[in-house]
Amino acid sequence: MRVIRGLVLALVLAGMGAGTAVAAACGSDALGTSRTITLKRGAGGAFGTVQHAALPGLERGEVVLTFDDGPVPVLTPQVLDALKAECAKATFFMTGGNLDAHGDLAKRVVAEGHSAGIHSYSHPHLGTLGEVAQLDDLARTQAAYQRLFGVTAAAYRFPFLEETPVLMSALARDGVAVFSIDLAITDWQPADTTPMLAERLSKALDEKGGGIILMHDANKPTADAIATLLRVIKQKGYRLVHVVWEG
Ligand SMILES: [Zn+2]
Repeated sequence: MRVIRGLVLALVLAGMGAGTAVAAACGSDALGTSRTITLKRGAGGAFGTVQHAALPGLERGEVVLTFDDGPVPVLTPQVLDALKAECAKATFFMTGGNLDAHGDLAKRVVAEGHSAGIHSYSHPHLGTLGEVAQLDDLARTQAAYQRLFGVTAAAYRFPFLEETPVLMSALARDGVAVFSIDLAITDWQPADTTPMLAERLSKALDEKGGGIILMHDANKPTADAIATLLRVIKQKGYRLVHVVWEG
């Protein structure tokens, strides 16, 4: 009994510790980041149930936030500010073109504790390109990433989620993790309003029960809605998990 009491006390204290940290920085009502899942750099893998297996260790009721197509001025900072206000950590899949054009912003993303992967150089339909062009796109993107961060990216998301055998082989060879998704809010339509995106997110969470969420930080309606979308996640009782790479 004493052992059980001790264990319960330890769990309560651990929970209080995390809660206190969030409360100090963000207020007790913040979404916060409940825990991290650490993946080994170079271990490869392919995750996200739309195309692959679920991310190992991710439980029902947990979500992973991912943002594609940035970084871009104005909109990416808007998303970063909203994440900071909620102590929320995410993964950004950046294009090589934007890494080259907006390196300072890419560095800000990582400096604020988020993870960064890559998302092709110029967002082509890779399946329409020949083998050499596909491999060249990957090499250019990794070179842009390496110039900024000193290492190549550990994770890749295909543009339009259009996977190709050529790049799946190359990424597996290089040990780069392929990140598909579990749910999306189809946030690329310019006329989308914040209530529309919030409703789509709420519905997708109800259907899937959590998982890797795809959003676009380069999309103005998403940047305008992101503070509300984070509140939706919190109010529906989901816990945010941050994916990091080490090694
Ligand atoms: Zn994209």
